Amino acid sequence: MRILSIRARLTLWYSSLLALTLLLLGGVCYGLLSYSLARDVDASLNSVARALEERSHGRGSFPPSEVDEVFRRFFGFSPWERYFGMFDPGGRMDSGSGKLRLSPKARKNAAEGRFTFETIEGIAEYPVRILTRPVIRGGRLVNLIQVGMSLQNTESTKRTFLFTLAAVFPVALLLAGGGGWLLARRALSPVDRMAEAARKISVENLAERLSDPGKGDELSRLARTLNEMLDRLENSFHQVRRFSADASHELQTPLTILKGEMEVALRMERSPEEYRRILESGLEEIDRISRLVDGLLLLARSEARALKMDLQPVDLLHLVQEVHGHYKEPANSRNVTLALGPLSPLSAQGDKGHLRRALVNLVDNAIKYTPDGGRVTLSLEQRDGRACLIVEDTGIGIPEEEQSRIFERFYRSQAALSMGEGGHGLGLCIARSIVETHGGRIEIDSAPGRGSTFALLLPLVTLPSRAWSAGDCF
Ligand code: ADP
Repeated sequence: MRILSIRARLTLWYSSLLALTLLLLGGVCYGLLSYSLARDVDASLNSVARALEERSHGRGSFPPSEVDEVFRRFFGFSPWERYFGMFDPGGRMDSGSGKLRLSPKARKNAAEGRFTFETIEGIAEYPVRILTRPVIRGGRLVNLIQVGMSLQNTESTKRTFLFTLAAVFPVALLLAGGGGWLLARRALSPVDRMAEAARKISVENLAERLSDPGKGDELSRLARTLNEMLDRLENSFHQVRRFSADASHELQTPLTILKGEMEVALRMERSPEEYRRILESGLEEIDRISRLVDGLLLLARSEARALKMDLQPVDLLHLVQEVHGHYKEPANSRNVTLALGPLSPLSAQGDKGHLRRALVNLVDNAIKYTPDGGRVTLSLEQRDGRACLIVEDTGIGIPEEEQSRIFERFYRSQAALSMGEGGHGLGLCIARSIVETHGGRIEIDSAPGRGSTFALLLPLVTLPSRAWSAGDCF
């Protein structure tokens, strides 16, 4: 089935509604016209009958000239010889047109002193409206006056009205339909232009935007919404491009080193110790690549909301102690003290492995970016109804303008680079992604030279957790 365009549908709806309105209006007007014509005829007949009654003075008949004059006065012409009759109370015609008869209903009504209006067909070419009026004197029915009028004029007026309506109706419909079509076309032409402009936008010219009709109406809003969507698309495209470039660059470095080492190793015979050293160095690079690919995979899964999560209540106090135990020695070896601050026995619903990874990334950074003699403190407290894991260091700190950027993929600050710390710039991004997947967030408070505090906020679960004792710290 062919789908009609909006323009055609609008026109069709508009025309159908108009046709319905015209039909209703025409019907109402026709009804009113018929009613008012009928009322006029009845009023005139009544006036004629009354005038004749006033002149009858008990007479049983009228001279034709008198009847003629009365008819002319009220109708402008006189059909008296056809539609006038005078009957005695028994129903016999005293004078008048032979075609008129007293109906049983009229006689009955007259006996009760009431008028009777009737429309009679068959006595002339057109229906005839008849009024039977009783003449009562001294409370007694003296005779009955019957006057009538052909409904020819009324019928022809009604027919003319119908003809006019039938002629005007299609013209009005055509005009309105045509006007509606033009209006719809004009109103929708910006949509066509927008569709045409949107069709031309591709990956090559994503910076192009749709022009706003500028009237602040629905179409302006549509153009703005589409442009905002294009902004987001362009942004995503740039991010994907930068990500691919960064990822290839990060992968290329260890691969080049690995390749170089293998080539050098193969250039001549070497001792087993030398081969061992070269293989160990190669393994380090492979480890590096593996960590990078692993991190990228986690981010991709998390973005696609496909990160596998083994959700269960996680004892955060235990997690902090575990990480502390694991990183205490490596920190010591860098002359950094890894200490435990206040720890509340709190639990969160989550995947223990992922949460551990997020915390490890923060602790790893804190140790990396804290110079000799510095201190990193891990604490666990309840904040704003959430469990809050805090990693505080006395390290190099992060300038305010960089604080939003450090969560971007592959971002490394100049200060970090000059310290010679060789991360991939994925650690914080992964931590944030994991925490957000758990319905939490990461807050940062840092200043260059003073150190940094990363707070990892997670939704709490209330568990009958074991009480913590000071001895647990060590
Ligand atoms: P990297 O592998 O480089 O550590 P991250 O994503 O973990 O990558 O961190 C991004 C950047 O954020 C780091 O290069 C560093 O500049 C900054 N940063 C992260 N943690 C700290 C910290 N505790 N102190 C100072 N700078 C930090």
